[in-house]
Amino acid sequence: MSVWPQYERWAERFSAALMPTYGVPPVAIARGEGCTVWDVDGNSYLDFIAGIAVSSLGHAHPALVRAVSDQVGTLAHTSNLFLHQPEVLLAEKLISLLGNEARVFFTNSGTEANEAALKLVRRHAAGTDRGYVVAAENGFHGRTMGALALTGKPAIREPFAPYGVDVRFVPYGDADALKNAVTDQCAGVFLEPALGEGGVVPPPAGYFTAAREICDATGAVLVLDEIQSGIGRTGTWFAHQHENVVPDVLTLAKGLGGGLPIGACIGVGAFGTTFGKGDHGSTFGGNPVSAAAALAVIATIEDDNLLEHVRTVGETLAAGIAAIDHPLLAGVRGQGLWRAAVLREPRAAQVQAAAQEAGFLVNAVQPDAVRLAPPLVVTAEQVQALLDALPGILDAAVLKES
Ligand SMILES: *Cc1c(COP(=O)(O)O)cnc(C)c1O
Repeated sequence: MSVWPQYERWAERFSAALMPTYGVPPVAIARGEGCTVWDVDGNSYLDFIAGIAVSSLGHAHPALVRAVSDQVGTLAHTSNLFLHQPEVLLAEKLISLLGNEARVFFTNSGTEANEAALKLVRRHAAGTDRGYVVAAENGFHGRTMGALALTGKPAIREPFAPYGVDVRFVPYGDADALKNAVTDQCAGVFLEPALGEGGVVPPPAGYFTAAREICDATGAVLVLDEIQSGIGRTGTWFAHQHENVVPDVLTLAKGLGGGLPIGACIGVGAFGTTFGKGDHGSTFGGNPVSAAAALAVIATIEDDNLLEHVRTVGETLAAGIAAIDHPLLAGVRGQGLWRAAVLREPRAAQVQAAAQEAGFLVNAVQPDAVRLAPPLVVTAEQVQALLDALPGILDAAVLKES
């Protein structure tokens, strides 16, 4: 008899009822508390992926539970026909964290935030001959048609072509290639602060300073996709604050709602008013419940001094991985609590499976990279627990079948 009878039952029902877009996930999670989750068979795991950098406060955080419960019991939805206070409070808060004049448009997801940004770039280019945009090879911006057009991964992009957007792809991190691609016919440049789905790959230092200069010189709009890196993930509110380069348009989602669906497209300076009345809309975007969740996430990060915590435990995590001498392990990259353990061989799937057996959820983001993006509240002890287990996990991964 199987030791995971419930999992097997639910996996069978999942594969019969859901479209096979994700394959059958390897764990069926029943509940969570803090950085621990339990599966349907009662096994517990330390969560080092947080629903892909989303559950910033971990699971069932009292501040999030309270904010969402109170809001849903007060007012769950207004549509954009009516104003509600949480959206105004959240927009004001995001603008203050950014530290620049700006305006916010709320969405429900990351891909929608990028759709808004793409429309904004087009609106800005209207009446000019700026006919194309530039994005990065191996970049990821979402799965809807506009965001997918910007996504530089041929395997997920090409089957759905053609797109109504002329996108030119450049190697990520190469400032000279960017300079050559961006002319005064270019409407906008879409970049991530580090490739997230690409395997947590940071660019060389100075890349964003160069990107800012190139966009200033040509008049192209600089759009920074901080959907994965934003809201404390790298130890600052936004990853671009490390290099102190302010984009024209900033997109957010994932960690912003701490698990509730919300995204944002933020226009900085004059880009805050590029869209006029009627130019864009969303029935659910920035709804009261998701906005209340985001306010609770931000307040908790502030009250609990989590940015400093992320920097400290993020360093411990990276230094701990770097100190492990193992034939499968090449090193570690990333910032804050946004890291990848880099492998010498394409065995990330085996590492993920071995980690799961050892009681840790990690993510084989690329064949040779294992992504670690735990809740921002992960403790030093929990980080140490993973570091202690990692050599054994790597040993087990080496022995697993490919
Ligand atoms: C996840 C992600 C998206 C897409 O967000 P969804 O909420 O899945 O639509 C876009 N850009 C980046 C950088 C992401 O990490």
